[in-house]
Amino acid sequence: MFPALSPGLAAASYWTMGIAATGGLLLSIVFHETAHALVARHYGIPMRGITLFIFGGVAEMAAEPRRPRDELLMAAAGPAASLALAVLLDGLSAAALAAGAPAAIAGVAGYLALLNGMLGIFNLIPAFPLDGGRILRAALWAWRGDLEWATRLAAGAGTAFGTLLIVLGLIGVLEGDFIGGLWRFLIGLFVNAAASASYGETVARRLLAAIPVSRVMNPDPITVSPQLSVQAFFDDYVYRYHHRWFPVMDGPTVLGSVATQQAVALERSLWPGVPVGEVMRPLTAEDVIEPETDAYTALQKMRGGGAGRLVVLRDGVLLGIVSSRDLLGVLALEQVLHDRMPRDRGRVVPR
Ligand SMILES: [Zn+2]
Repeated sequence: MFPALSPGLAAASYWTMGIAATGGLLLSIVFHETAHALVARHYGIPMRGITLFIFGGVAEMAAEPRRPRDELLMAAAGPAASLALAVLLDGLSAAALAAGAPAAIAGVAGYLALLNGMLGIFNLIPAFPLDGGRILRAALWAWRGDLEWATRLAAGAGTAFGTLLIVLGLIGVLEGDFIGGLWRFLIGLFVNAAASASYGETVARRLLAAIPVSRVMNPDPITVSPQLSVQAFFDDYVYRYHHRWFPVMDGPTVLGSVATQQAVALERSLWPGVPVGEVMRPLTAEDVIEPETDAYTALQKMRGGGAGRLVVLRDGVLLGIVSSRDLLGVLALEQVLHDRMPRDRGRVVPR
């Protein structure tokens, strides 16, 4: 790009400009995602982090927005930040030229202005999961109050756009633009996959949000005593029940939990002498859920904590445990029932 944009410089300058522009693009993407993350955090949506990957970046939310307005502002923040940065860099580039600064500086700033402008505009395309698709979904959601319907339409637009990119990519490859075509093809595949995943997530949310944890939990979990040796824990529990995680109970009191990873960290010769109570993890608020809470909230909590299991407690009394595997099983079952009784037909069918 640079020999075409700023002709007449030495080869070393072009290399330096290329490296500077690459770093600048990376920072521009971080800037875009940070804008999403800050607005999300402002509206109380917990953020898990910002991940950069080959197609750009993503600000990962630990939960979905609860209101259309929150989602709209959060989605718009990224493109707005990119477009503002584009204007700023464009001004900087013009000022550098006017002040007689080296052509390389104006060239890099001008190119980054262009990239940020493209980043802002591309992301405004109303195809879920692009930001524009999230804005579209938020608008439809606000209009009819039906998140699932809004997601279905916005994800449909995402699938159409992804398919268009795939076709354009194939045409590009056939016409000899191999790298550009392959790139469009891969981005199209990515957009398609993300569109169908987000629709699945919304269906899961509706199905699970209607079910209390008490209905899907295992009400009779196998528990271990803190006095049990790590050796006996493996011999009598892990191998016998094929679970990798157990609540640790002292009489009626839940003390914590023990997972095979914690026990394995202990040197093997010590297994017969060390009780489970010494290797267990004490119970924290992250590990606990109340029986009335809905299963979707439970799933979000598991994803946030990363344990994949929660202890169901009421007033300190163990009522059961619930795992992400239980929730996925329920989801599969609900989807079978749902497919048999499509709610779109508007008939009420007793279960
Ligand atoms: Zn974005």
